[in-house]
Amino acid sequence: MKQRIQEVDLISAEEKEACELPRITEDKNTGRSRKLYIESYGCQMNFSDSEIVMSIMLENGFDTTSKPEEADVIFLNTCSIRDNAEQKVRFRLKHFNGIKRRRPGLMVGVLGCMAERLKTKLLEEEKIVDMVVGPDAYRSLPSLIREVDDGHKAVNVFLSKEETYADISPVRLTGDGLTAYISIMRGCDNMCSFCVVPFTRGRERSRDAKTIVQEAIDLFQNGYREVTLLGQNVDSYKWESEDQTEKVNFAQLMEMVALVHPDLRIRFSTSHPKDITDEVLYTMAKYENICNYIHLPAQSGNNRILDRMARNYTREFYLEKIKAIKRIVGEDCGISTDLIIGFCGETEEEHQDTIALMAEVVYDYAYMFAYSERPGTPAAKKYADDVPEEVKSRRLSEIITLHRETALIKNKASVGKTMKVLIDGVSKKSDEFLRGRCSNNAVVLFPRKNYQKGQYVMVRVTDCNTATLFGETVEN
Ligand code: SF4
Repeated sequence: MKQRIQEVDLISAEEKEACELPRITEDKNTGRSRKLYIESYGCQMNFSDSEIVMSIMLENGFDTTSKPEEADVIFLNTCSIRDNAEQKVRFRLKHFNGIKRRRPGLMVGVLGCMAERLKTKLLEEEKIVDMVVGPDAYRSLPSLIREVDDGHKAVNVFLSKEETYADISPVRLTGDGLTAYISIMRGCDNMCSFCVVPFTRGRERSRDAKTIVQEAIDLFQNGYREVTLLGQNVDSYKWESEDQTEKVNFAQLMEMVALVHPDLRIRFSTSHPKDITDEVLYTMAKYENICNYIHLPAQSGNNRILDRMARNYTREFYLEKIKAIKRIVGEDCGISTDLIIGFCGETEEEHQDTIALMAEVVYDYAYMFAYSERPGTPAAKKYADDVPEEVKSRRLSEIITLHRETALIKNKASVGKTMKVLIDGVSKKSDEFLRGRCSNNAVVLFPRKNYQKGQYVMVRVTDCNTATLFGETVEN
């Protein structure tokens, strides 16, 4: 699983809108004693965790506010995947310093991956912080708050082998009442050499399949029409009942959720090239409501770099997976990826291999990053971060430029086609236009007429740009 907030200043507003994480939108105010304000950083998994945290806090006598200056407790649910993700949090903590001076009773907690990576060190480095809580310790939040109430600093960064929060119903923070995340597993057993996730989220564990299906049923009955099944590596989802009579892998889980209702769309993230199976692809092809979109991080197009990254596949193996997707799911399956450029020792030729891979796959979307060394990772221990910053940024802008060209090629291929679209809102540009997503995850804008958010509509695509399709509704 990767971030979606980096490099934003290098892409257009439309591209930004297409990948931005939702923010907390509404205040839950029952007049109870204390108010919680929470800010989420990083990946969808972190956002989904904030929904679990919110549920635990509401259960324990808290209301919520979307204004930090009104809060009694502020939580920052943090990301640690790159240095500037952590710098953003430190910057926010300085901002909250001002609020704390005006409201001395204000409690500040740092949650998530940065909390897990730094542990008690964070209390020494950031005096404003009262509690540090890792991703597996959210059940202990009420008792940690009591510790702070008693005048102590509180820390719980225990990583669990069992915890999946399966019995906690998340409080939906997307605020659109239409799309929701369902976390199906936690942790990661891969040890990609650049990645902190195995250290900040622990070992892989899969959630009880029945609780996932029940959550999907509840969401559909409450008007939701799209769920995203979340995991660091969904392809290694494997659940077994205690009596070992039931075993469910990812393809089977997807089928169980697809059978909830044909009008409930299913998306999933993130896949891993070495683990994605043809069974998953055939299951996608079998159910119209499983969206034909796959996020398949490549990270690099060069075998020596992939080996240094410990990704456990080769460029050739990766391209075979892309061929299988196009053969089984279809040529118009949406494919996105993650790419890291300027990894330790990357030569110009090896960079060109990544460029060649992008040109061959023609991605719909790509999340592109310059390598950022993370303390404690195998890469930081084994390799020098020796690609100069100016070379990294030149290579990064090269692949962003190329990505724009290939994304436009992909969007142009949709012109003239009729797509089934789930309407998720009004265009930010004009409320005479509605916005929605096609099954392949493309964003499409079209005239409003009498259509409503939450409806499915057929749209014939008439035009496009790099980030967006434009079309006309096709009346039945
Ligand atoms: S698969 Fe690799 S990059 Fe993704 S979370 Fe796991 S270790 Fe990190």
